[in-house]
Amino acid sequence: MIRRMQLFCGIVFFGLCIASGFGQTKTFRVLAFYSTNVEQDHVDFATQAIPFFESMARRDHFTFVATSNWNDLNPATLKDYQVVVWLNEFPATQGERKAFSDYMEHGGAWMGFHVAGWMDSRETWPWFADFLGTMFSGNSWPPMPATLMIDDQNHPVTRGMPKSFISPDNEWYSWQPSPRNNPNIKILMTLAPSNYPLGFKDTLAGGDVPVAWTNNKYKMIYANMGHGAKILSDKTQNLFFENALLWLGGRN
Ligand code: ZN
Repeated sequence: MIRRMQLFCGIVFFGLCIASGFGQTKTFRVLAFYSTNVEQDHVDFATQAIPFFESMARRDHFTFVATSNWNDLNPATLKDYQVVVWLNEFPATQGERKAFSDYMEHGGAWMGFHVAGWMDSRETWPWFADFLGTMFSGNSWPPMPATLMIDDQNHPVTRGMPKSFISPDNEWYSWQPSPRNNPNIKILMTLAPSNYPLGFKDTLAGGDVPVAWTNNKYKMIYANMGHGAKILSDKTQNLFFENALLWLGGRN
C-alpha cells in the first residue's frame, strides 16, 4: 500500500512538473547598463528600452534592473546576475572591462545594442574584438528603416519570425572584417540587398552587412538596433528582443 502511495505521489509530482512547464518557468536576473551623457538618440533608445524590458520582465517572470552606474560592472555585483545588457554605451575603464570579460568567460550572458558594439580600433580592447567577432567600419545616415532578412528561422531567438521584415528607423553599421567569415559567429539577421544604397549623408553602398549575431563561444547576442525613439515600435522586432533575452536567461 505504501509503495503504491509512493508511486501515485511520484506520478502526481511528475504531472505537476509538466503542467507548470518545468524549465520554462526558470527565473533569472538581468542587469542593464546605460548612460545619460551620450548622443541624444542613444539616450532616447535607453529611455524607452528600460520600461519596455521592465514590462517584459513582469510578463515573462524574470528580474530586470537598470543602472547608469558603470562602476556596477564589478565581480561582486555581477555574481547576482545571469544576464548583462548594454543599452547605449560600453565600459571605459580597464577594471570594468576585466570584470566583464571574466564574467563572460565564466558563463555570464550578454546582450548589446547598437553602439555597444562600436569600437574603432582593435588595440582599444582586443578581447572585445574577438568576443564581438568583428569591428565597426561605417554607418548610414540619417536613421532610416531597413528590410532585414532572417538567416535562420529555426534558431530559438528568431523562432516565430517571418523570413524578412521591415525594421524601424535606425542608424545602421557596417563591419570589417565581415562577422560571417568568423567561424565562431552565427549570423541571425542581415540587411537585405534591396536596401542599398542605404542612407544619404552617409551611405552603406552594398555588400553583406549582418545586423544581429551570436558568438558560439559565449552566451551573447549583438543587435545593431538602438538608435532613436522608433526602435521598439515593431511587433516582429520586439519579439526578437524578447526571444533573445529569454534565450540568454536560459529559456528556450
Ligand atoms: Zn547611433
